Amino acid sequence: MSILNQSRMTLLSRLMAVLMFLVCVAVFMPIIMHFGNALTPVKKSAENGQVFLQSTDFSSDNKVALSDGWLFFESKLVQPQDVQKLLNEARIVRGISGWQLTAQDGNQVNGFGTYHITVNLPLDKLDLAIQIPQIESAYRLYINDNLVATGGEVSESKSTAKPGYNAKIVLVPNEQNSFTLTLQVSSYHTAWGGLWSPVVIGAADEIFATQRDLVALSMFILGVLTITAAFYLIQFYLRPNEKLPLVFGCLCMLLFLKEFTNEHMLFVLQFLGINFSIGLKINYLTFYLGVPTLLYFMQLCFPQTFKAKITRVCYLIAAVYSVFVLVSPTQIIGYSLLSYQIFCLIVTLYLITCLVISSVKKLPAAKMMILGCLILSIFAINDILFMLDVVSTGRFFSLGIVGFIICQGYVINNHFNNVRSRNESLSLQLQQRNLELQELGAGLETKVEQRTQELEQVNRELQTLAEVDKLTGALNRHGLQKYLQTSFERLRRSGQPSSIVLFDFDNFKNINDSYGHDSGDKILMSVVKIVNDLIREQDKITRWGGEEFLLLLPDTEIQGALAIAEKLRLAVSEQLSNTVAPEVPVTITAGVAQFQQDEIFEILFKRADNALYRGKRMGRNCIQS
Ligand code: GH3
Ligand code: MG
Ligand code: MG
Repeated sequence: MSILNQSRMTLLSRLMAVLMFLVCVAVFMPIIMHFGNALTPVKKSAENGQVFLQSTDFSSDNKVALSDGWLFFESKLVQPQDVQKLLNEARIVRGISGWQLTAQDGNQVNGFGTYHITVNLPLDKLDLAIQIPQIESAYRLYINDNLVATGGEVSESKSTAKPGYNAKIVLVPNEQNSFTLTLQVSSYHTAWGGLWSPVVIGAADEIFATQRDLVALSMFILGVLTITAAFYLIQFYLRPNEKLPLVFGCLCMLLFLKEFTNEHMLFVLQFLGINFSIGLKINYLTFYLGVPTLLYFMQLCFPQTFKAKITRVCYLIAAVYSVFVLVSPTQIIGYSLLSYQIFCLIVTLYLITCLVISSVKKLPAAKMMILGCLILSIFAINDILFMLDVVSTGRFFSLGIVGFIICQGYVINNHFNNVRSRNESLSLQLQQRNLELQELGAGLETKVEQRTQELEQVNRELQTLAEVDKLTGALNRHGLQKYLQTSFERLRRSGQPSSIVLFDFDNFKNINDSYGHDSGDKILMSVVKIVNDLIREQDKITRWGGEEFLLLLPDTEIQGALAIAEKLRLAVSEQLSNTVAPEVPVTITAGVAQFQQDEIFEILFKRADNALYRGKRMGRNCIQS
């Protein structure tokens, strides 16, 4: 496939992926928008404990948050029928907030109190319901004189009070035009008790639908978090060396636990039998441990900008807070929240700074990471503003988490993709190197073979040089020695008769002296040629030294050897006389000897040498044995 086609294919697949992502968003968007609309009640203040809802049209999806103007009996558990009698002891609650803020003189409320409000309804009778928020940490709610809901156990004494998961919905009797709500609350188990968020009243259908939507939204987010955590933890299981999937999986698990312990999911905790204080502690721990885990995740993504030391310090601080949460009673742990929130703010500033630096440095996926954090921050800011009553959008932080996770999915996969590309290119390089090595190896083999052959040749030449006389081409003494050790020894042991002829030029010194050394050399060379013409293949000629030669004649008796010596003597005097100067005879004298049974070569040689010496004495140019 051509490069152009390939890049076209890549572009096409990318477009497909983006398109499919947009389709997913388009499918989920209306669901998410629906959640958003459903969750926001209108706030309505009471006047002196009376709230007037006559003009409220509950049929058009309106819900009313009874957020202000309740009567409050501080440190008293007042029965509904006693409210009128004790009216002078009540004060008006301005704004719904926790225990401390409702204390008139700045002192803490004594751990219990009673809220009271009269609700005046519109004339058209609709089935209405009241949504009671999570009230920390126990309550009793009366509608008129009837006890309609309880959560935990309310008591004036700490020892008998019990906390409980207690967000509930109750139906409102609509026979009358007004009714009273009396809410007895005791709080010994959290830092801030009381009516922390408003009681909401609305059409029963709508209230139940809202509750259902809140649970559905939580379930949706829990599902997203479960799948994401499982996906990355499996990835970590398969690649235990990669920390990134583990850390991200842990982050998802922490977010899961945070979502799992929120107000709408408390019924699940209750169902699972998880104790109130454990649920509360888990909720705190997820926040305290989530901050350094997020930082660690960032550090693994951008190790060039995020410092490992800072992550460690952050973990240390979080560990101190976590230990505090684990060992302290629930009514104290809330006091650690504010300082940790400030710490979290500092971490956030550090995080943003590092991300901006990463982006400026053009680190891969830094922009996507910023986008993820931006989504998260926007939703978080929305929640804070919503809680502060600045906007009336609803709480969406959980949805921010989903957006954040999608962005992080891109960041992590981009990281793995880079690793994979690097591996691919490395393996390609490796393949190429291997090929080169193979080629090199093959070349090397032929080269080695060639060199070996050359060396063998040189060796052979050297060996020949060592065994052969340079001037004449006959064997030298070393060569003879070798020959005797191998072939000749074998022959001798076979019992066949063998002989030697030792011959020496007569008066050679004179020839050298009179006609020069070169002339002498010529004669020496010529005699070897003459000998070679006379002898058989198995016979060997050796230059014994100077102008003295030895003929080795295997399978030859003394008579044969004498005959050869005689032939040689004649040939030399015939062919070599007159070679250096006219009338200068060149002759040899020879001694001949046959191998005796078990005779060593030295003895045999001695006998031949003696014969030669005899010949010299007898006047030269003769053969002796
Ligand atoms: P004899 O008859 O007693 O053998 O007398 P000779 O002069 O030949 O005496 P001998 O054998 O003792 O002398 C050897 C001479 O051979 C001495 C040396 O000058 C000569 N000679 C030895 N090797 C070579 C050689 O390689 N080339 C030449 N040109 N002469 C050599
Ligand atoms: Mg001589
Ligand atoms: Mg000699």
